[in-house]
Amino acid sequence: MAWLRYLSKLTNKKTSHRPKITDPFLLLPPFNFLSHFSSNTNVAKPFTNHTNSGSGLEPTKPNEKPRVVVLGSGWAGCRFMKGLDTNIYDIVCVSPRNHMVFTPLLASTCVGTLEFRSVAEPIGRIQPAISREPGSYFFLANCIGIDAHKHMVQCETITDEVQTIDPWRFTVSYDKLVIALGSQPSTFGIQGVKEHASFLREVHHAQEIRRKLLLNLMLSDVPGISVEEKKRLLHCVVVGGGPTGVEFSGELSDFIMKDVRLRYTHVKDYIRVTLIEANEILSSFDDRLRRYATKQLTKSGVRLVRGIVKDVKAQKIILDDGTEVPYGLLVWSTGVGPSPFIQSLDLPKAPGGRIGVDEWLRVPSVQDVFSIGDCSGFLESTGRQTLPALAQVAERQGKYLAQVLNKIGKTGAGYANSEKEVEFGEPFVYKHLGSMATIGRYKALVDLRQNKEGKGLALAGFFSFFIWRSAYITRVVSWRNRFYVFINWVTTLVFGRDISRL
Ligand SMILES: Cc1cc2nc3c(=O)[nH]c(=O)nc-3n(C[C@H](O)[C@H](O)[C@H](O)COP(=O)(O)OP(=O)(O)OC[C@H]3O[C@@H](n4cnc5c(N)ncnc54)[C@H](O)[C@@H]3O)c2cc1C
Repeated sequence: MAWLRYLSKLTNKKTSHRPKITDPFLLLPPFNFLSHFSSNTNVAKPFTNHTNSGSGLEPTKPNEKPRVVVLGSGWAGCRFMKGLDTNIYDIVCVSPRNHMVFTPLLASTCVGTLEFRSVAEPIGRIQPAISREPGSYFFLANCIGIDAHKHMVQCETITDEVQTIDPWRFTVSYDKLVIALGSQPSTFGIQGVKEHASFLREVHHAQEIRRKLLLNLMLSDVPGISVEEKKRLLHCVVVGGGPTGVEFSGELSDFIMKDVRLRYTHVKDYIRVTLIEANEILSSFDDRLRRYATKQLTKSGVRLVRGIVKDVKAQKIILDDGTEVPYGLLVWSTGVGPSPFIQSLDLPKAPGGRIGVDEWLRVPSVQDVFSIGDCSGFLESTGRQTLPALAQVAERQGKYLAQVLNKIGKTGAGYANSEKEVEFGEPFVYKHLGSMATIGRYKALVDLRQNKEGKGLALAGFFSFFIWRSAYITRVVSWRNRFYVFINWVTTLVFGRDISRL
C-alpha cells in the first residue's frame, strides 16, 4: 500500500511545506463541509472530528487530466473503467475489494467445482492505467460520504481487522463521479437472517459457505454425534428460488451425488438440500422451463418447499405455518435492494430507493454525477421502468457511460462544471439478451427471448448447459481466468471436486 504510506507521509509534513503543483496528493484546507460526511460505512451521517481527516486528492489543475472517480469495482464500475479513454482522463477507483467478482460462476466455487481465484479479476488487469498512470489510483477503501456540491467524496480505508494502521479517512476530489456501489441482499427485516445465514455475493461469502459445508461434513463423522444431529448438520437449506438459489442448489446436489457419496460414505445418507421459495422457482422463466427445472432438481434430490420464512434461529428456521426446519448450513438468496448507504445519500431517488438517473445515466440536480448498475434506477419522470439487478444491465451501462464520457472528454468538457453546453448523444437503451441458469447434473435453462411471450430460442437440458458454459467462459474478463476456469472444469470432471478444508 505505497499510496497509503505516501498519504501518511504527507499528512505528517509541516504545514509550511508547499507541495509541487504536479503532486496529486495535496493537503486540503480544514473540512468544514465534513459535516456532510459519515463516521460509519453504512450510512452517510454527519461527523465532527477525526485525526486523519484533512488529507486527500485535491481538485485537478488545468494542466492535469480531468479525474473520474469510480465508486465500486463490480460489473458496472469495472466495465466503465475498461472502456474509459485514459489518454483523456485519470481514473481513481475506490472500493473495499481490489478485484471484480465474476458472479455468474460464484456458486460453483462454493463446492469446489471452480477455485476462488478463477472468478476474481484484479482491477489492474481490467484497467492497467490504474496501476501505471501517475494520476490514476486504486484505493482500498469504503466511500463514506459524497459532497456533490464540492465535487468531493470521503473515504475510509479497509483494514480487515489487521491492526497495522488505524482506519484512515481521506477525501478525493473529482471532475466526474461514477457511483457504481451495487446492492445488498434483501432480508425483509426477518430476524436472525444477518446473524445466522450465509449470503452469496462476494468471494469471501463463497469461502465461508465452503468451509461451513466441509466442517459440517467432517463433524458429522465424529463418534458420539447423534443421528438427529448428523441430519441437522448435513441439512443445507437455501432460501430463495431465483437463479442464484437454484444454481447453488444444483451445484450442491452435484457435489453430494458425485463427491460426497464417494468420499464421505459414512454420512452420505444424511446429507440433504432443501430449497424454500415463497412463490414459483425461477419466476423469470416460462412455465415449460420452470417445470423442467423442478423435475430435474427433484431428481437430483433437492427438496422443494413452498413457504415463507418467518424467523431464523441459530440452528433452525421457522416458516409462517409454524413448521420448524433444522439446518446446518443456511444460504439466503432472496433478491437484492439498495444498501443503507445508498438510501442515506442526499441524491434523487428512483422507485425502490435506488439512486435516480435520467436517460443518460446522469444524476439530475447535481453536476457531473452519474450512477450505474444495481444501485441506480430511472427516475419516475423519465417514464422508464427500473431495470433488473443483472450483470448484463450493469455491464452495458458501464460501457455506454464510458463512451459518453470519452465523447465529452474529447470536446474538453471532462473537467468539473464544464459539460453544460455539451451534447450527450443517444440516451441509454437496454435490450434484454435473455436469461440462463444451471440446474445441476450438466443441465441448464437458456431463454434467449426478450420476454416470456416473445419469439426466439428457449431450451432446457444438456445442450443448454453447453451454451451456458460456452457463453460464460467467453464473458470471463481475462484470458488468464478463462484458462483457470477451463482447467478447473476439466479437473473436476476427471478427478472430482477439491474437498480440502483450507
Ligand atoms: C451469485 C450471483 C450470481 C449472479 N448471476 C448472474 C447472472 O448469471 N447473470 C446476470 O446478468 N447477473 C447475475 N448476477 C447479478 C449481477 O452480479 C449484479 O447485477 C451485478 O454484480 C451488479 O453490478 P454492480 O457493479 O452494480 O454491483 P456489484 O457487482 O455488486 O459491485 C458493487 C461494488 O461496490 C463496492 N462497494 C460497496 N459499497 C461500497 C462503498 N461504500 N464504497 C466503495 N465501494 C463500495 C463493492 O465492493 C463492489 O465492488 C448474479 C449475482 C450473484 C450474487
